[in-house]
Amino acid sequence: MNFYCKGHHSRAMCSSCKAMRPTTFDYRDMPFSDGSGTVADVLVGVCQVCDQAIQIPAQSMAAISKSRAKATQSLEAMFPAPYLELLDLACYKIDPQAPAHLRKGLLLFYIHRVAQGALNRSSLPGMLKALEARTALKSPVRKRLSMKVPERQQAQLAAIAESTGLKKTDVLRAVFGFIEEDIVQERSPELLRQMQEFSVLAAG
Ligand SMILES: [Zn+2]
Repeated sequence: MNFYCKGHHSRAMCSSCKAMRPTTFDYRDMPFSDGSGTVADVLVGVCQVCDQAIQIPAQSMAAISKSRAKATQSLEAMFPAPYLELLDLACYKIDPQAPAHLRKGLLLFYIHRVAQGALNRSSLPGMLKALEARTALKSPVRKRLSMKVPERQQAQLAAIAESTGLKKTDVLRAVFGFIEEDIVQERSPELLRQMQEFSVLAAG
C-alpha cells in the first residue's frame, strides 16, 4: 500500500477521458461516499488531462467514508440491573476516570471478538447458563441499554444470534459474562492492559 504526498504521480482509469491517464496527487473537496455532503481537502489523484479527481488512495478512504461509518441503528435491550452493572464495573476497572465512555466500545469490541472467532460462539449458551445460576444476577430491577451502533456491528450481533439460536438480548448477557471474566476477574490480564492503553481512544 503506497503512501502518497501532494505532487506524487501515478496512473488510473479516468471515467471522463475513458482512458488510462497519468495522475498527479493534490488536495480537492470530495463528496462523501454516500453522497451526503462534501469533505474539504482530501488527497486524491487528479487526471493530468481533464483535471478530474479520479483516484482515491487508501490513506484518504477514512476521510470520505466518514459519514457512512456513522450510519447507525439504535440498539435497545432490557436487562436485570446487575448485568449492566457488570459491564459498568469492567468499564470502571479499565478507566476509573471516564468509565461511561467505554460502555459502547467495550461491548462492540466483544461482539467483534465473537464474530471473528477470537471468542468461541459455541461457549455463549454455557456462559448464559452459568450466569442464570448466580443469584447475585437476579433482580426485579430492570434497566435499559440504549446506544447507537454502527450497522456493521448490528449485523454481527444478528448473525451471532442466528447461528447460536439465542436471542440478541441473551447474546449480550453472555457477552457481559465474558467481559466480567476477562476484565473484572482479570482472567486475561494482557487484554485488560491493552484495553487500558486503548481507552484513551474512546475518551474523545
Ligand atoms: Zn481525464
